[in-house]
Amino acid sequence: MPRPCRVRISAPMAIREKAKKLDRVLKALEKFYSRSVLPEGTDPLERLIFCWLFFTNPVTNARKAVKMLEDENVFGDWNEVRVATQRELEDVFKEARIEDAESLAPRIKTFLQNVFEELDDTALEPLKELKPDKAKKFLASLEGLPSWAITYMLVTLGLDTQVPWDPHTERVGARIRLFDPNAALPQRKKLLRAALQDDDPLRLHHLFVEHGKKTCTEEDPKCPKCPVNKDCEYYLRRGARASKAEAGGNGTKAAKKKG
Ligand code: SF4
Repeated sequence: MPRPCRVRISAPMAIREKAKKLDRVLKALEKFYSRSVLPEGTDPLERLIFCWLFFTNPVTNARKAVKMLEDENVFGDWNEVRVATQRELEDVFKEARIEDAESLAPRIKTFLQNVFEELDDTALEPLKELKPDKAKKFLASLEGLPSWAITYMLVTLGLDTQVPWDPHTERVGARIRLFDPNAALPQRKKLLRAALQDDDPLRLHHLFVEHGKKTCTEEDPKCPKCPVNKDCEYYLRRGARASKAEAGGNGTKAAKKKG
């Protein structure tokens, strides 16, 4: 007797589908927000400070602030930034329209001071010589650094290939369903990394942060205008239905009411 034919989705196939989806999503986001949101330059410290400012501020303001910090007529180098007063740092940030200047200035100053005390310099390149575990331990010990920035730095230094995990990445990835939001955190991270395949984790990080700040906000995401809504399960399952019902709303209010 012939065996019944079972339809089974194999794990590799599921990953291939997710990889294709993520590739489409990243291309669409890059087109929508432009490549200006991606990291520039090769100095790890410059990249880190830019990303730190960009995390809560518009990309143009973050770039302007970094440019001013490196300007010879302002501080000139990162060691001069380290020894500047908190007020001087705040003033530069305010001129560049960095919104949270008062909280970022002391954190960045503390971070630079801690790096200097440990490495005798503010340059982070010497960390490349360490084993990944040691570099990770060192970065984790530095006061003031956001938790996602540890992975960000390790990837920048070529010591890790994981995706920096932050609230924007978590939210966007879960809504697009690049991973099961109910899975344990290590599993969610593993699934997202697998879907990224050989692509750059920092490209994903910058694009998802920008998307999370501007469009896929925690409250009231702008789904009908979202460049990846065709690939978003949150929108396809809930937002589109709500959009029709509300005829002109942002498409997520009904979804929010249902939790
Ligand atoms: S469609 Fe909505 S929920 Fe989905 S990624 Fe876009 S903004 Fe976020």
